[in-house]
Amino acid sequence: MLPVLALVGRPNVGKSTLFNRLTRTRDALVADQPGVTRDRHYGFASYDGQRYIVVDTGGIGQDDEDIDSQALAQTRAALEEADVVLFVVDSRQGLMGGDEMIAEQLRRIDRPVHVVVNKSEGQVGATAVAEFHALAFGDPWAVSAIHGDRISILLAHVFEHLPAPRAQVLPHQRGAIRLALLGRPNAGKSTLVNRLLGETRMLTQDAPGTTRDAVASEFSFDDKPYVIVDTAGIRRRARIDDDVEKVSVVKAMQAMEAAQVVIVMLDAASGLSAQDIRLLNMAVERGRAVVIAVNKWDGLEGKQREKLHAELVKRIGAFDYLPLLFISALHGSGLRDLMDAIQASHKAAFAELSTNALSRTLEDAVDGHSPPAIHGRRIKLRYAHQGGRNPPTIVIHGNQTQRVSDEYKRYLMRRFREKFDLFGTPIHLVFKNSD
Ligand code: GDP
Ligand code: GDP
Repeated sequence: MLPVLALVGRPNVGKSTLFNRLTRTRDALVADQPGVTRDRHYGFASYDGQRYIVVDTGGIGQDDEDIDSQALAQTRAALEEADVVLFVVDSRQGLMGGDEMIAEQLRRIDRPVHVVVNKSEGQVGATAVAEFHALAFGDPWAVSAIHGDRISILLAHVFEHLPAPRAQVLPHQRGAIRLALLGRPNAGKSTLVNRLLGETRMLTQDAPGTTRDAVASEFSFDDKPYVIVDTAGIRRRARIDDDVEKVSVVKAMQAMEAAQVVIVMLDAASGLSAQDIRLLNMAVERGRAVVIAVNKWDGLEGKQREKLHAELVKRIGAFDYLPLLFISALHGSGLRDLMDAIQASHKAAFAELSTNALSRTLEDAVDGHSPPAIHGRRIKLRYAHQGGRNPPTIVIHGNQTQRVSDEYKRYLMRRFREKFDLFGTPIHLVFKNSD
């Protein structure tokens, strides 16, 4: 399981700036909680090869006097899932009443807390942090989220003091394809899992754990073994306790991390939501093979089906290499096609690509359409080899490769995808200069 790092602090201290710096991405998953003043954002990050999850807890301490109870409840929910807390304060403003109130909340939880004194650029570290010793969470760390100053020293310290990692619940059956099933509440995830499990002997189900843990089940389909991490399982349990957040984004991300193939389930009855797009983006950015399953296909008439199909194809155009399947989890239709697509995507994600074939494909691609010269200087792409699998990583050697345009990269990706049948998985291209 990936460690979860939560950013907590008053508004405007720089939490989202720090979040963006740590995750280096615009894509964030948003907790699905209506009526809160500010959304929680979740993203993947890595430090020194160690991957982790960052949560920007959003609203707490709306103004100094009044931390509204809902904001507090939502921050508490985020802290529940966190392994470590970065308590962000503002060196320009100094220590505020709201900081002290947050500190009081943080003292009640049993997690390491590090005080991060942001906006400290241009200040002497010791002066910037002096007054924040009063918060009594050890030595405060002066950083500048905007300039990136001292962030890596902070992270080195945080990771040195990380609590012992949580156990991975996922069973490891040899040769099993590991699946994560993600999608909005009520899309039909539980129904699909029940159907897949129901038809075969159930080996394990609902392994004991807390709401923070993944729930994994094993099943086989056509005599092929699978492990499915089921984000709906938690919800089944959560119904017992209404305080528990309905769908944990952290859990979805942990499942995504552990999986080889991610099934993103859409609900034909309600179409494609912004969160569905974020899920797709994140899964692809994480390098996972992905299949898109549009569920509740049974409820639509012919005309509606056509319309929805056309709309989906249009709106998820950027993911045109991902299989789009139409199923009914309730009636069991389309499951074979879904499982076939999963097999094919998995195969593509783990494909072995020979240096010869890759280099030849590169050569053909360049012959067909050479990279445009930049300021009269020609970009040369010489040869390619495989740098990794899951996702397929293709390393291209040449000169001036830092000048290859995004458009040309997309062109190359398309050529590799077609040549090696790499559908259902993202491809990573890595460029190396040989001069
Ligand atoms: P949040 O409400 O805690 O998420 O705060 P934001 O990340 O939105 O930042 C609030 C403001 O502080 C923005 O105008 C940021 O540009 C600014 N800010 C964030 N980090 C720094 C920093 O390191 N130095 C300075 N000078 N400004 C910063
Ligand atoms: P989850 O929240 O994603 O786990 O969704 P559930 O599996 O609990 O399903 C939510 C609701 O959608 C339930 O009432 C299901 O019976 C219904 N449902 C699930 N799959 C289908 C389907 O393929 N067709 C129809 N018409 N309803 C479905």
